[in-house]
Amino acid sequence: MAFTKKTIRDIDVDGKRVLVRVDFNVPVADGVVGDTTRIQAALPTISYLVEHKARVILMSHLGRPKGDGPEAAFSLAPVAEKLAELSGLDVHFVDDTYGERAAAAVAELAPGQVLVLENVRFDKREKKNDPEIARTLASYGDVFVLDAFGTAHRAQGSVVGPAEFIPAVAGLLLEKEVSTLSGLFSNPKRPFVAILGGSKVSDKIGVINRLLDSADTVIVGGGMAYTFAKAQGGQIGDSLCEDDWCDRALEMLAKAEKNGVQFLLPIDNVVADAFAEDANTKLAKTGEIESGWEGLDIGPETEQLFAKAVADAKTVFWNGPCGVFEMDAFAHGTKAIAEAIAANESCDSVIGGGDSVAAVNKFGLADKMTFISTGGGASMQLVEGKPLPGVEALNDAE
Ligand code: ADP
Ligand code: MG
Repeated sequence: MAFTKKTIRDIDVDGKRVLVRVDFNVPVADGVVGDTTRIQAALPTISYLVEHKARVILMSHLGRPKGDGPEAAFSLAPVAEKLAELSGLDVHFVDDTYGERAAAAVAELAPGQVLVLENVRFDKREKKNDPEIARTLASYGDVFVLDAFGTAHRAQGSVVGPAEFIPAVAGLLLEKEVSTLSGLFSNPKRPFVAILGGSKVSDKIGVINRLLDSADTVIVGGGMAYTFAKAQGGQIGDSLCEDDWCDRALEMLAKAEKNGVQFLLPIDNVVADAFAEDANTKLAKTGEIESGWEGLDIGPETEQLFAKAVADAKTVFWNGPCGVFEMDAFAHGTKAIAEAIAANESCDSVIGGGDSVAAVNKFGLADKMTFISTGGGASMQLVEGKPLPGVEALNDAE
């Protein structure tokens, strides 16, 4: 699917005040920025605007402040500093968002300069999508740019609000995220193999359902595989299970059959006698897990089965770890999947979901993937086929 909204490439930004909603929600501890992935991801749009002589005003949330005023731990000041360091651009910061000092700092901006406003969530009205704060933010810009893909699923003041008052277009990150993730459903190179894992079926059922309309093979691993195993009448011991979702799991299997989609589930499992790194472990066939034991990873036969499907793929979408990868004892299956994707150099690989991305990073394989989404919830919502309010609010391409 082509991207249907206007982007910064479609408008003239020379000398204009460009208000950009970015996702600078990065980890900050004691005033030091940890992982800079999200700042790096915003650089193409910021650099483009600076090169085209815009006056760039950046706004973001950071963490979960109470919304009753400034809280030092959630200030964007260290993020602005890190942005200056990473980009080499002329970056300014103002410790105000909706007040006179923010307006004055905007008025002083010269073309090619960048201003970072203070955390939009220091005021409760941001999350409530209050039109007054949207109006204030919109007054800073001649045009609004949404580049915060990770927040595009939230109808909050700084995400959707300015579009009501000034022209609104997509940034380059947003465009890339949306076109890559929706491209999985328009014209994927085949075979298209989707791997879903994680803990809960209830979180992922919409994603599985939609992928069954597009993929050639759907693989389900991780904790949610046990709801499928139980639905099929197997013994799952103390493994994770959502009893209320067994019927839906069977519906998914029936849909796969009807659509001619290969549906792969684990055939063996690493089971443990406790949810702990140092638990006793053994292997158990799917459907034969005794009580007192819980499945925390896929077994070696399953690794091979899944890796074989991945090796033949031309497109891979992966969301959700195949085991409790946070504990080394149960990370092997997830690592095997990540390695299988990395080893297939002729496939387009798209990774979505916070924990899946963390797993790929943990194994040092991020640079082997074609595309790693910066949005957890937003990417899942898009893959489910639900519209993102932030994207909906933008002006349509002509
Ligand atoms: P993502 O963030 O990539 O969308 P999820 O949040 O859906 O992924 O799932 C990640 C979580 O699932 C991880 O914390 C992982 O420990 C857990 N998980 C995976 N397999 C199992 C399992 N067999 N039992 C319990 N938890 C599991
Ligand atoms: Mg998660």
